Amino acid sequence: MEKIAPVVTYRHGSLADADSTLNNILDLVVEGTWDWSQKTGEVLRSPGWYRMLGYEVGEFKQDVFTWENIIHPEDYDRVMRNFELFTGGQIGNYSIDYRCKKKDGSYLWITDNARMVERTGDGKVSRIIGAHLDIHERKTAQLELAEQNRLLREDNVALEKIILKKAQELEQRNRELQLKIAEVEQLSNTDTLTRIANRKKFEEQLQNEMSRADRYGHPLSISMFDIDHFKAINDTFGHETGDRVLKRLADFISANIRDIDFFARWGGEEFVLIFPDIGLEGAISCAEKLRQLIDAQELEPGLKISCSFGVTAYKAGDRFEDLFARIDNALYKAKNSGRNRVVELQVE
Ligand code: GH3
Ligand code: MG
Ligand code: MG
Repeated sequence: MEKIAPVVTYRHGSLADADSTLNNILDLVVEGTWDWSQKTGEVLRSPGWYRMLGYEVGEFKQDVFTWENIIHPEDYDRVMRNFELFTGGQIGNYSIDYRCKKKDGSYLWITDNARMVERTGDGKVSRIIGAHLDIHERKTAQLELAEQNRLLREDNVALEKIILKKAQELEQRNRELQLKIAEVEQLSNTDTLTRIANRKKFEEQLQNEMSRADRYGHPLSISMFDIDHFKAINDTFGHETGDRVLKRLADFISANIRDIDFFARWGGEEFVLIFPDIGLEGAISCAEKLRQLIDAQELEPGLKISCSFGVTAYKAGDRFEDLFARIDNALYKAKNSGRNRVVELQVE
């Protein structure tokens, strides 16, 4: 049998001296040592081993079952595999952390380090000495930290998911809001009966066109027209028919102007047109074309109407009121000179 000598050695005069030194040391050290002999099947444990786990010194039988019985069930397989790998020579270093059951039923984290001290002739392990060291505080702190890290990571992932969801919801709300704003804007600019632009929108548009005309020196003209004797239509056919005539006239005009022309209901049976890039002569012919078309058209079977038009051109420096005073005057003249005609008012 091959003896494996430790690195540091004691020298004693007698075996009794040696035993005394060893037993005193074993009684003093806080670590629990164990000494397993394959030949006898015995495991000698130091007093420190019992004290560490809260047992009476020498309380258990000196065999491997005592050890196996106190290993935490969750650690058992790992510990046994490690022992077999070591005794089988697959690992050269025996060092493993696991939990041992204390007398009070709780578990203590220990680190178990061992070394082979004897081998049989065929190289098999025949004796191992090991030491258990209490690492409970360090190990539990470490595990707690790992657990906190894990929870933190899970929280972060959950938080990211919540933030993403909130951002998506916000985006959706924003889109809905934009649509609502566009809808409200559309409503505030639209005449409810005819669905064409209302007076508010017309005034905004005219201001824009006046600025544009100033900026580029382009011509700009406007026209206002009013249905002739509309009161009589209401009186004869009823208010509902009057409404329908207003709607059909609006559709009819919309279909017969250029895309860049702007058409709005001024109020009642009066409408306004903006002709960008067109001077007075051009505007007169546009108005005249519309007047003739209306005159020739039956908006309802057997129902014909005519309109009177006032036309004027914008001149640089005109204010909105100047332009309007002229157009109003032109329309007044058209009415007074027999209706169903276009009257222009030249800029002085
Ligand atoms: P003129 O040729 O002088 O313009 O005569 P008119 O009858 O058209 O003018 P007047 O100002 O006397 O009457 C306008 C009529 O238009 C009176 C009003 O009831 C009618 N009217 C105004 N707005 C509406 C509307 O939204 N629907 C209907 N059905 N009638 C309207
Ligand atoms: Mg009228
Ligand atoms: Mg009128």
